[in-house]
Amino acid sequence: MSSSATQNRSSRTPLIAGNWKMNLDHLQAVATVQKLHWTLKDAGHETGSVQVAVFPPFTDIRSVQTLIDADKIPFELGAQDLSAYDSGAYTGEVSGAFLAKLGVGLVIIGHSERRAYHHEGDDVVGAKVKAALKHGLTPVICVGETAEDLERFGGSAVPVSQLEKALEGVPASADIVVAYEPVWAIGSGQAATPAQAQEVAAALRGVLARVLDDDAAARTRILYGGSVKSSNIASFMREPDVDGALVGGASLVVDEFAAIVRYQKHVGV
Ligand code: PEP
Repeated sequence: MSSSATQNRSSRTPLIAGNWKMNLDHLQAVATVQKLHWTLKDAGHETGSVQVAVFPPFTDIRSVQTLIDADKIPFELGAQDLSAYDSGAYTGEVSGAFLAKLGVGLVIIGHSERRAYHHEGDDVVGAKVKAALKHGLTPVICVGETAEDLERFGGSAVPVSQLEKALEGVPASADIVVAYEPVWAIGSGQAATPAQAQEVAAALRGVLARVLDDDAAARTRILYGGSVKSSNIASFMREPDVDGALVGGASLVVDEFAAIVRYQKHVGV
């Protein structure tokens, strides 16, 4: 599999996704999306060469959706989480049905911050993946090892196991995105090396082929996340199994995020 899936890299549109986490209120969100749009336009960024997605806090989504629709801004709208349930007595939760109604297309599931601070295990992640698919949302399934896991098991074992569990019961035709985010690289300023990212991304593509099928492995985008910046994005994008990036801190700084989106121009890949 892996060689044919890797050779199909050109059929996978690169995706640069900004996870804002709990930053920017709805007014700041609107200003940020407007500025990002104009920065990319002024720089002559070719829409379609790279897909851009923003993942604001829930409270911003309606405002960002209104702006994107009104100004025909070519960004995908994402959410940072969803409930495993459709509706009911789940105080504080947000249903995939509500997100879909707001024009949300992508939803992050299993981010290491939710796994760590909200004790979300593989069972919860699996249930949320199914909830997203049920409501027509594309899950961005986050997997990654801690520094301790890396030392004990190497880079691939934990992300491979997390992805296998997240894909249980998922049909091969499902539209999904996988984000490999080593926990030790998130927010630390210490990114993985491109070779490390490639090794794990190739192993994850192998999981897609084994658990889903070769076609799913060939078409599914695998992102790298963890201290991505404009100065290192091109080195990740040169790797055959890395199809984009999930960007945290750097997605909050418009000029920096725009430079990441424009990685093909400013470094040449
Ligand atoms: C993230 O939290 O998804 C992330 C990749 O963060 P950062 O880019 O800040 O490391």
